[in-house]
Amino acid sequence: MTDVEVTPGSQAALRRANQQRVVDALRSGGTLTQAEIARGTGLSPASVSNIVRNLRAAGTVSVRETSSNGRRARAVTLIRPPGAVVALDFTPGRITAALGDSQGAVLAREGIAYDVAAEPERAVRRAVWLVETLLTRLRVDHGTIAAVTAAVPGPVDLRTGEIGAITGMPRWAGFRPAQALTSRLGVAVQAENDANLCALAEIRDGAAAEREHVIYVRIGEGVGAGIVVDGTLFRGAGGTAGEIGHIGLDERGQVCRCGNRGCLETVLGAPYLVGMLPHQGERAPASVPELVAAAEEGDPGCRRVVAEAGTALGRGLGILANTFNPEMVVLGGELIEAGEALLEPVRRSLELGTLGSALGQMEIVRGGLGDEAALRGALLLAATAAASEV
Ligand SMILES: [Zn+2]
Repeated sequence: MTDVEVTPGSQAALRRANQQRVVDALRSGGTLTQAEIARGTGLSPASVSNIVRNLRAAGTVSVRETSSNGRRARAVTLIRPPGAVVALDFTPGRITAALGDSQGAVLAREGIAYDVAAEPERAVRRAVWLVETLLTRLRVDHGTIAAVTAAVPGPVDLRTGEIGAITGMPRWAGFRPAQALTSRLGVAVQAENDANLCALAEIRDGAAAEREHVIYVRIGEGVGAGIVVDGTLFRGAGGTAGEIGHIGLDERGQVCRCGNRGCLETVLGAPYLVGMLPHQGERAPASVPELVAAAEEGDPGCRRVVAEAGTALGRGLGILANTFNPEMVVLGGELIEAGEALLEPVRRSLELGTLGSALGQMEIVRGGLGDEAALRGALLLAATAAASEV
């Protein structure tokens, strides 16, 4: 007989098996004290205590102080299926990680400013470090994580997982973030377009709850949409559906990074908006929030840029309204903070280019989840993936 070598992998498998024994005991026994769990499973009280702490941090059980035979005890109740999920949100200047329970609700989050666009492999390493930091802080065992979803700007090829050639982060074109993350985290990771995830979160928990035909438009560095038809995300044949930033509006407009001219993005994307402003020395707005603030204060050049962005957005939305007949358009991104200065021209240009029957049923609203939408959508998608594996 040979000695069984205990590898880290088999220790993780053992921890998972022990955790499953505790979950099974709670599933059949209802609320149990830690001592009862230890007796029922044959695990040591210290192991049960560790496992319960981990399950509690992952949102799987609730723990209540009680007494049993005159002694203090901890009563443990299974509150939802086991298996925490993790979401990652990559934006050009920031990485955010969140831990969610098996239903996709946020338990905790952690973010860092980081130049994500510069180098995808390094950004992935940083993201993995961020996830490990989050799990360590919450004292959640790595083995509890059932699925991970990463939100990325740009289209994700449904077959290969590659980021499409036209993305707000050009060095990410052709990169496969899900594959890179899976090999480092040791858990199945899927990558999904950020606007698609925003749409999922808004129809589940946000401004478009209970709606079936919804278009979410995210206006940031680039412009993208998540299209929901009959309550289901519409990704297209290869995952490029919703790249509305490249709807051509003006054949004499600026050349776009996609190679066409006068795309919607060239009058709505953050770098273009800021680039349009007249140089006014140190007072020139250098970001979209500064542009919005200056427009609110009445700066004529900034008001003009916001109004023209609204007009172009209205034309783009008109094309979508005639094509998809959504009941709701949800808008997200920093430019939306301009409020009526943006929305009034949006509505005016929509009225000119949209069929009355499509426009009459369509509401335009601001997102209800703000800049957390992509992260929330990623948790929901990860929770769905985890549930389908059980
Ligand atoms: Zn373009």
